[in-house]
Amino acid sequence: MVFPFSSIEDFRVELKSEHELFRKTVREFAERELEPHLREIERTNQIPQQLLKKAAELGYFGLGIPEEYGGQGTDLIYNSIYVEEVSRICPAFTVATLVHGLFTFPVLKFGTEEQRRKYVIPLARGEKHAAHATTEPGAGSDVAAIETTAKEKDGGWVINGRKYFISGADKADYFIVLARTSPPPSKKERWKGLTFFIVERGTEGFRVGEKIEVVGIRGSHPCEVILDNVYVPDENRVGEEGMGFKIAMETYDHGRLGVAAQAVGVAQAAFEKSLQYTMQRRAFERPLLGFQAVQFHISEMLTYLEAARLMLYWASHLATQERPEAVFAASMAKLFATEAAEKAALKAITVHGGMGVAVEGMVERFLRDVQIFKTYEGTNDIQRLVIMRQMMKQAFGMEIS
Ligand SMILES: Cc1cc2nc3c(=O)[nH]c(=O)nc-3n(C[C@H](O)[C@H](O)[C@H](O)COP(=O)(O)OP(=O)(O)OC[C@H]3O[C@@H](n4cnc5c(N)ncnc54)[C@H](O)[C@@H]3O)c2cc1C
Repeated sequence: MVFPFSSIEDFRVELKSEHELFRKTVREFAERELEPHLREIERTNQIPQQLLKKAAELGYFGLGIPEEYGGQGTDLIYNSIYVEEVSRICPAFTVATLVHGLFTFPVLKFGTEEQRRKYVIPLARGEKHAAHATTEPGAGSDVAAIETTAKEKDGGWVINGRKYFISGADKADYFIVLARTSPPPSKKERWKGLTFFIVERGTEGFRVGEKIEVVGIRGSHPCEVILDNVYVPDENRVGEEGMGFKIAMETYDHGRLGVAAQAVGVAQAAFEKSLQYTMQRRAFERPLLGFQAVQFHISEMLTYLEAARLMLYWASHLATQERPEAVFAASMAKLFATEAAEKAALKAITVHGGMGVAVEGMVERFLRDVQIFKTYEGTNDIQRLVIMRQMMKQAFGMEIS
């Protein structure tokens, strides 16, 4: 036994030649299709629509989704490879697929067959886009504090509230929205009484508000979403009434693998760019890489990068097998990979000297992107709490707060 795991076998990761073939295809897509647009995306803060269409044609929106719902039927390692390879060039581009996952995962797992057919199939084909709306101006980490309400009326629900920081809201056709449907039974059970609903763009009273400018992942900007007496039929409720908190937590357990993969992609880019630069750039009549202090930076970048990648594939493998440990493994992968990427980004800036802080050098952006990875899908300090709570629950059946 390797506490808290049952055996050393639990660290096995099954990587196949098909995974490597897939990586090559995604790399070609990212380098050929995305890279030429990178500076334009950074400058305009917009992803050209035709690039999303191309990704849809290649089936990238269907990764991890069963074939019967329009997906590729692939395991979660494919999702991680896709996000990692694309993030090596442009992490903002992967936000579209990640937010699709925050919609399709809860609908596939907790929704009705009608919902799966109506919403997941067009999303898996990339014909429609989705967003996930939980966060509010007054509630982020503390999901149970949301103030959006849904009240029963005429066999349906009337939703009122304001959501904030909603990625992809400007393009989304379908939104999955968390609302309070009943007051919490006690202070200790604040998480009870929350429910998810699907709201379609164009529903009366629903509006996407201001775009929120953030420091990084340019090309993807979160928005405000306003729900003013929005009526949805009961068939739009996802999962049982009052189960919203549980569904949200399971969705994030799954989704944070994507953030770990974004971080591995950025760490890879920072490493490669730094190695190339220090081999070419000369100082004191030799390449920068000739200095041991510079070598130390590069070798540390590589060490943290490969450790992060192993954790990502391992956690993705556990999640594919639906192992209970996958919950804290995903949190550990997100925590470690985003902090490894932060280290890599800082070192990349350091070894690039002035070019490291010049916007035209396209190096400082790594750090801006990583700060967002450390924040969304549960901040890294929230991951520290999840790891501890889940590990205690798994190992001893003990609930700690
Ligand atoms: C670019 C971007 C895109 C986003 N996209 C989406 C989206 O698509 N949909 C969506 O619903 N949300 C989205 N979010 C919201 C994101 O999930 C939240 O910002 C995040 O969960 C943190 O919540 P908060 O901003 O309210 O910070 P807070 O919860 O106010 O936290 C502030 C600080 O306090 C710390 N803290 C809070 N509670 C604790 C605790 N119990 N113990 C220790 N420390 C604690 C946090 O770690 C953090 O450092 C996005 C955010 C960003 C920046």
